[in-house]
Amino acid sequence: MTERIIPIAEARYPTRAPVVPDNAPPVSGLLSDQRGRRLHDLRLSVTDRCNFRCTYCMPKSVFDTDYQFLPQSSLLSFEELTRIARLFVGHGVEKIRLTGGEPLLRRGIENLIEMLAQLRTPSGVPVDLTLTTNATLLARKAKSLRAAGLERVTVSLDAVDDAVFRKMNDVDFPVSDVLGGIDAATAAGLTPIKVNMVVRRGVNDSEILPMARHFRGSGHILRFIEFMDVGASNGWRMDEVVPSGDVIRRIGEAFPLEPIDPNYSGEVAERWRYVDGAGEVGVISSVTRPFCAECTRARVSTEGRLYTCLFATEGHDLRALLRGTYSDEQISAAIAHLWNLRDDRYSEIRSDETAGLRRIEMSYIGG
Ligand code: SAM
Ligand code: SF4
Ligand code: SF4
Repeated sequence: MTERIIPIAEARYPTRAPVVPDNAPPVSGLLSDQRGRRLHDLRLSVTDRCNFRCTYCMPKSVFDTDYQFLPQSSLLSFEELTRIARLFVGHGVEKIRLTGGEPLLRRGIENLIEMLAQLRTPSGVPVDLTLTTNATLLARKAKSLRAAGLERVTVSLDAVDDAVFRKMNDVDFPVSDVLGGIDAATAAGLTPIKVNMVVRRGVNDSEILPMARHFRGSGHILRFIEFMDVGASNGWRMDEVVPSGDVIRRIGEAFPLEPIDPNYSGEVAERWRYVDGAGEVGVISSVTRPFCAECTRARVSTEGRLYTCLFATEGHDLRALLRGTYSDEQISAAIAHLWNLRDDRYSEIRSDETAGLRRIEMSYIGG
């Protein structure tokens, strides 16, 4: 019998202490990395725990009862999260997305939302505050989230067929409860709601048309996401990726579609609308049409490590600075230094060589 080694949660991924430059240039709100990309979006992961075991994200074979999640003391507090967010906003971030794990499992998340909703960009505009959720707790929380200042939600839903959905979440959760969560979010005004479906060939690609049919005319924007090789535990294979081009062709044969312009430069989803006026769908082609050249996202993990790419192998320990004796100016300078050095473009150079790298899990960094 082979012995199973369970790494201590904190030591699971390599991390580096950020450099704090002595002479920090003044914060300009206009950072640029090695490829001329601005810093525009921040994803904050608020927990590494989840009540689902989606087979492509937290397969039960890895995320079982022996799996060590981070202890409470490791997580950034709401004050620490807000401080980090404020410093990023100073550097040009206009959009903050809360994620996880399942962000609604974080106790008191409404308090964090209230704190983040107070942030203003250097030109005095509130940040665009959103959250991605599996919607299991949305029916219960939609009103309080909205009251706290959340503007919109993105709901992950991989099928409308109950049996297919239960198989994908692998905890036997019924699709009707997710749909109830979407209705509650709509009633609370967390709109327009985006519904994200990860498509895996042979598992749920039979649901592409039923999902399109279900959400046509609903006012919600359904987006199809190519199954990605994030992490090291989901058994990713290229032949399980359904290229977005195929998704659009399949839908277009049933309900004619036409392309529409992006909402803003750097938007990762390609947008299409139904010719008959029944709304919009999107595709996110991370595998077949990488968008690294436009990638303006920073990600901060649950225990405060900055990742400059979803496929990064190493994080930068901002928590060490937050819990040390560093001033806002010093931490801000460290963030600027890291962004200036950023040169990531994993999806553009994906190959057999990169496939062997020890990547972080999606449930840890939050997509
Ligand atoms: N638990 C929340 C949820 O599911 O919405 C937030 C965290 S989840 C990690 C964020 C998003 O990542 C979800 O929409 C999920 O479908 C997506 N995701 C996870 N693993 C993925 C993979 N291997 N390929 C593509 N998307 C993935
Ligand atoms: Fe949980 Fe979201 Fe991952 Fe599914 S995709 S296991 S809901 S974190
Ligand atoms: Fe951005 Fe990295 Fe994804 Fe490229 S691979 S789009 S750099 S997160």
